[in-house]
Amino acid sequence: MSAAITLENLTVSYRRHPALHHVNGAFARGSLTAVVGPNGAGKSTLLKSMLGLIRCNEGRVTTHVDRQRIAYLPQQAEIDRSFPLSVLDCVLLGYWAAQGNWGRISEPMIARARRSLQAVGLDGFAGRTVASLSVGQFQRVLFARILLQDAEVILLDEPFNAIDARTTSDLLRIIAAWHAEQRTVIAVLHDHEQVRRAFPQTLLLARNVVAWGDTTEVLCDDNLLRARAMAEAVDDGAGICQVDADQVLALARLGTHAHGDHHHGGRQ
Ligand code: ADP
Ligand code: MG
Repeated sequence: MSAAITLENLTVSYRRHPALHHVNGAFARGSLTAVVGPNGAGKSTLLKSMLGLIRCNEGRVTTHVDRQRIAYLPQQAEIDRSFPLSVLDCVLLGYWAAQGNWGRISEPMIARARRSLQAVGLDGFAGRTVASLSVGQFQRVLFARILLQDAEVILLDEPFNAIDARTTSDLLRIIAAWHAEQRTVIAVLHDHEQVRRAFPQTLLLARNVVAWGDTTEVLCDDNLLRARAMAEAVDDGAGICQVDADQVLALARLGTHAHGDHHHGGRQ
C-alpha cells in the first residue's frame, strides 16, 4: 500500500488535554475513508493536524503529497460568509489555494469555474453573493471550489451537517467521482448508514484509534460501544495517559468509569 498521509504516534493537546492520543496509521493513496466518533473525539483536530494548522505535541504527520495539493472543507460553523463575495469569486479562490496565483485569473480559468458551478448544480448562480445562499447551496459552492483545485487529497469536515437530502446525495456523487479519479478522500461523518453505503474505509476515533479499516468491520456494535465508553471515560478522566481501551470497556460494562472527575474534557 502506498500512503498519502501517515500518522505516527500523533498526540495533540489543547491546554494539556489530549484531543488526539497516540494515533498511528495511514491513509492509502486513492482510499475513501470516513472518520467517525463521538463529539469531541478529535476528528476536526485530526484534519487540522494533517493540514499543518495545529502543531503536534508528540509524534508526527507525514504528507506524501505536496501540502498545496490538499483541499480542505472546514466545518460550517468555522466559515464566515457574511462578507460581500460573489459565488464566482468564491469558487475562483480555489485557484489561489491550489497555486497561489491570485490576481492572474484568465478567461479559461473563469470558464472552468463556471463549469464547476454547473457540475454542482449551481448554473446561473455565479453573480449571487455567497451571503444570499442557503446552507446547502453554499456547500455546493465550496465543493465547486474543491473541484477547481484538482487536489490529490481532499479533507471534508462534516460536509453534510445541516445539509438537505438532495444536496447530500448530489455531493456524495461528486465524492464518488473523486474516488473514481483515484484522489484520496477523508470525510468526517456522523450518519453510519451513509458511511456503510458510500465509504469503503472507516477510522473510528475516540481520541485514540478505536478501529481503522474496512467499514463493515469497523462499524460493529462492539467497536461503537468501545468508542462511546472511551469518550465518556476521557471526559471524566484525569491521568489520560493511563486510559487503556480494554480496561475502559471492561469498566464501562460494569457501569463504572476509569477515573474521577479531576479534569474536564471541555466538550462543546
Ligand atoms: P470533534 O471534531 O471530534 O468533535 P475536536 O477535534 O473539535 O472534536 O475537539 C476535540 C477536543 O478538543 C474537544 O474536547 C474540544 O473541546 C477540544 N478543542 C478543540 N479545539 C479546541 C481549541 N481551539 N481550544 C481548546 N480546546 C479545543
Ligand atoms: Mg469536529
